[in-house]
Amino acid sequence: MALRDAWHRQQLLDWLRQMQLSGPAQGEGGLNAHQPPQGAGQAEVVDRTLRLLKAFARAQQDSQQRLQDMLAAIQASPNGVVLLDAMGRIEWCNQTAAQHLGLDGTRDLRQYVANLIRDPNFSAYAAGADFGTDVLVAGRASTPSRPVRLSLQLHPYGQGRRLLLSRDVTLIEQAEAMRRDFVANVSHEMRTPLTVLAGFVETLQTLDLSPQEVRRYLDLMATQSERMQTLVSDLLTLSRLEGSPLPGMGDSVSVQMLMAQCELDARALSSYMGRVEHQMQFELQGPAELLGAASELQSAFSNLVSNAVRYTPAPGRVSASWRLLPDGGGEFSVQDSGPGIAPEHLPRLTERFYRVDRSRSRDSGGTGLGLAIVKHVVQRHGAVLKIESDVGRGSRFAIVLPASRVKPLAVSAHTAPADGDTLLTTA
Ligand code: ADP
Repeated sequence: MALRDAWHRQQLLDWLRQMQLSGPAQGEGGLNAHQPPQGAGQAEVVDRTLRLLKAFARAQQDSQQRLQDMLAAIQASPNGVVLLDAMGRIEWCNQTAAQHLGLDGTRDLRQYVANLIRDPNFSAYAAGADFGTDVLVAGRASTPSRPVRLSLQLHPYGQGRRLLLSRDVTLIEQAEAMRRDFVANVSHEMRTPLTVLAGFVETLQTLDLSPQEVRRYLDLMATQSERMQTLVSDLLTLSRLEGSPLPGMGDSVSVQMLMAQCELDARALSSYMGRVEHQMQFELQGPAELLGAASELQSAFSNLVSNAVRYTPAPGRVSASWRLLPDGGGEFSVQDSGPGIAPEHLPRLTERFYRVDRSRSRDSGGTGLGLAIVKHVVQRHGAVLKIESDVGRGSRFAIVLPASRVKPLAVSAHTAPADGDTLLTTA
C-alpha cells in the first residue's frame, strides 16, 4: 500500500515537473492526456500546483497583452478594418472604419454589415464572390460640396470569415480627375489653333490667292502659331515650377529691376493692343532686394501687370507699386480700372485654364495659366497672393512677401529721384 502511494506521488510530481518544463500553453492542451496520478508528497504537490497556476495566469496575461497590442496597432492604422463573422456580422471594427462608414463600435456589434452599408455598389459587391478588386462608395461624411470617396475591399480569411478594409481615396480621386481635366484642357487648347492653321495651309495649297490675301492668311497663321508657342511656354514654366527644388535664400534680385522690366513689357503690350494707350503708373516705395528665384519673381510680377493691361480697355488706368510693410515684408500690387471680377470667380482664378471670359482671354493672347503660375511662384517663396475686385470698378492683385525674403536697401539717388524714397513714373 505504502509502495503504491509513493509510486502515485512520484507520478504526480513527474507530471507537474513535465508541465513546468513544457510550459502551461502546451500543458493546457495536455491536461486530459496527463491525468495527475494520485497521492504525492503534499507540500511539493501544493507548491508545484501553485507555481503552475501562476504560470498559467502569466501566460494568459501575456496573450491578453499581445491581443491588446494587436488591436492597438489596427486602431492606429490609417485604413478602416472591420472583422466579419461567417454570416457577415460585425465582430469588431477600428475607429477609422467607424468614422468612414458611420459605424458604432459597440452598438453595431453582431449587426449584418450589409444592413449598415446601404450603398448599392457595395451590396452587389458583397453578394458576389469576386473580391479581387475593391469597390468605390461615398463615405458617411460625404456632402455634395465635400465629397468623400471610399475604397472598400473584402478579404476572406479563417473559416468563412471576412475582413473588410476601407481606405479614403478622395484625394487620389481628385488628383486623377485633375490630371484628366488637365490633359483634356491642353488637348483642347492645342487643337483650336492647330485646326485653324491646318485650314489656312489647305486654303493656301488649293486656292489661287492674290498676294494680299496670302499675306493676310500668313499673318493669321503667325498669330495661331504664336498662341501655341505661348501655351507651350506657360506649360513648361508650370512643370519647371512643380519639378524644381524650392528657391533658396542664396539668390536675389532688386525690386527696381523687376519693376523696370514689368514697365517695359506693359508699355509694349499696351501699344501692341491698340492705338490708344493705357495710363500707367509704376511706384517704388522703399527699394529692396528680394531673396529667391529672379526669373520666377519676374514671371509672377509681369503676369499680374500684363493681365491688368490685357483686361483693362485703353485708356484705362494700371498702377503697379512696391512698398515695404511694417513687419519687414513687402508688397507688390497691381491695381487696374478694368471690368472687375464677380466674387464667385475669385476662389477659382488660380486654377489652371480657369477663365471668367473665355473669348476675352483668348482674344488678348491669354492661356488661362498666368495666375496658376503666379500662385506657384508665390507659394514657393512663402508669399501670399491677395485678390480684391469690384465689378465695374477694377481689380487689385497683390503679392505679399514675408520679411525673410525681403532685404531693404539704402535709398540711393538713382532709386529716389523725386522725394527721397519714391520712384514714380507715369504715362
Ligand atoms: P488668362 O491667360 O486667361 O489671362 P490668367 O490665369 O492670367 O489667365 O487669369 C485667369 C482669369 O482671371 C482670366 O481669364 C480673367 O478672366 C481673369 N483675370 C485675371 N486678371 C484680371 C484682371 N486684371 N481683370 C479682370 N479679370 C482678370
